[in-house]
Amino acid sequence: MYHLAVVGNPIAHSRSPQIHHAFAREAGLAVRYSRLLCPNDVDSFRAVVQAFFAGGGTGANVTVPFKEMAYHLCDVLSPAAQSAGAVNTLWQQDGKLFGDNTDGKGLVNHINQLGWQLTQAKVLILGAGGAARGVVLPLVMAGVSHIDISNRTLSKAETLVAELTPMLAATNSMGELKSLPLQQCTGHYDVVINATSMGLSAEQTLPFSSQLISDYAYDMMYGKPSAFLQHFSQIGASVSDGLGMLIGQAALSFTIWTGQNLSTQAIQAATQASQH
Ligand code: NDP
Repeated sequence: MYHLAVVGNPIAHSRSPQIHHAFAREAGLAVRYSRLLCPNDVDSFRAVVQAFFAGGGTGANVTVPFKEMAYHLCDVLSPAAQSAGAVNTLWQQDGKLFGDNTDGKGLVNHINQLGWQLTQAKVLILGAGGAARGVVLPLVMAGVSHIDISNRTLSKAETLVAELTPMLAATNSMGELKSLPLQQCTGHYDVVINATSMGLSAEQTLPFSSQLISDYAYDMMYGKPSAFLQHFSQIGASVSDGLGMLIGQAALSFTIWTGQNLSTQAIQAATQASQH
């Protein structure tokens, strides 16, 4: 039996148990995946994680607001976790706590499934929070040629670019990474990714020019109507919400913990399970 869990606050809304139980059914594995509500402070988070592994836990996902705390708690970090500055997947090995971040690879895998071309693509990321940071390295590894990062608070985009540029230089695959004021987001991109939480608020005014054009538009948000996707759909772009990214990151975590690669059928079963 694999004992898995997701730690967050709030956590009741999390679809991760349905997703991982669907994976387990398809893979023929015995899995118990629980939600762990944790008070929002470092000491509580550390105590919950330690108790989980001491009690025989195999692996845990980490969600809002604990991804950065998990990053600081780990003894060993994957390159994806290092570049993201955040951890969403935990496991223990030889008494050490390991951390990875599967969010960005989950996005790239979903974009590949959609058949959107990333090789040599010119990409615009809106937002400079945790989700934006986590997708930059996986996009670069997928072969994009250029990434502009734009954010309501420009200084955060500038800081992100300054921090990530040396890390990306080490991959030898980077074209160009730049920050850009929102009002200068015009012209043509191959892919625009909304990594802001603007869709979570009632405000539906888009913070960029109507001259912004893209062949493909991806909103990391899911489960709600998106003014961002509506806009790009109206100008003829192919669009997607972020449910496939959620499933994609979960699939990668599941593989880390169980060693099982998941079939397309398992991904489809989890997508259906997450909608109920
Ligand atoms: P953060 O809180 O770290 O960052 C929020 C970002 O949104 C900041 O860049 C912020 O700008 C910007 N923002 C917030 N409100 C507005 C607004 N009204 N107009 C313009 N920009 C705004 O959040 P995360 O990075 O963790 O998450 C961002 C989104 O991605 C969320 O919707 C989240 O649900 C989604 N997500 C989806 C995942 C998936 O699997 N599908 C995985 C991870 C995240 P500023 O710096 O100026 O405040």
